[in-house]
Amino acid sequence: MRKKIVAGNWKMNLTLAQAEQLINDILQAGLRLQDGQEVVVATPFPYLLKAKALLKNNPGFYVAAQNCASEKSGAYTGEVSAEMLQSIGVDYVILGHSERREYFQESNAILAKKIDLALANGLKPIFCCGEPLEVRKAETQNEYVAKQLEESLFHLTEEQLKNVVIAYEPIWAIGTGLTASAAQAQDMHAYIRSQIAAKYGREAALRTTIQYGGSAKPSNAGELFACPDVDGGLIGGASLVAADFVAIVKSLA
Ligand code: 13P
Repeated sequence: MRKKIVAGNWKMNLTLAQAEQLINDILQAGLRLQDGQEVVVATPFPYLLKAKALLKNNPGFYVAAQNCASEKSGAYTGEVSAEMLQSIGVDYVILGHSERREYFQESNAILAKKIDLALANGLKPIFCCGEPLEVRKAETQNEYVAKQLEESLFHLTEEQLKNVVIAYEPIWAIGTGLTASAAQAQDMHAYIRSQIAAKYGREAALRTTIQYGGSAKPSNAGELFACPDVDGGLIGGASLVAADFVAIVKSLA
């Protein structure tokens, strides 16, 4: 059975002391993860090592970076490479978040390079896809997301795809309080899975974890996670509040 993963994307928030406190509060909740369930915290770069140390000895808990460079190494001031992340024990890396696409001009082609570097360095990409509001209004969201998958992911081998998590994050739902309905999420997740099946076959599609992200919170996580093709969530705002994040993890079926 495929993994169910709740990941907290902290974005550019918290001081080191606050980050430590948040992780300690999450751990103190004494979550009992079932087989195949994972919790991931995607912290800012400076806190990754600390997060990794705090989560040691807690099976099922992993750390993620929120981005990595599209080049291997060299004169790229301010960048952080996939190899560096691997060298400090990072497990996952979020790639293609809509904020990176919008504010840092990350194209599908650049993301394909990042995906390759992440996988080559033993990191598991959490690949974000999702449409803006005008695309949803025009009802062309399937084509939009299919292109993102095609141009950034579908050059991978089936073996490589095993290490990729997909997060569907409709841009109109991110940080807006406007969550996709369970039906809208399920429809898109099933569509994404059908695209994987068409490219790699049914087995590959069935084993791929597809998270939902966008204003997920304790009050709607249960309904979203109950959808057959929704395998957990990528949580922004609510991941900064330990009680909310823990409640969302508990909503995993
Ligand atoms: P919110 O949960 O704050 O809407 O953010 C979602 C998100 O962007 C997670 O990556």
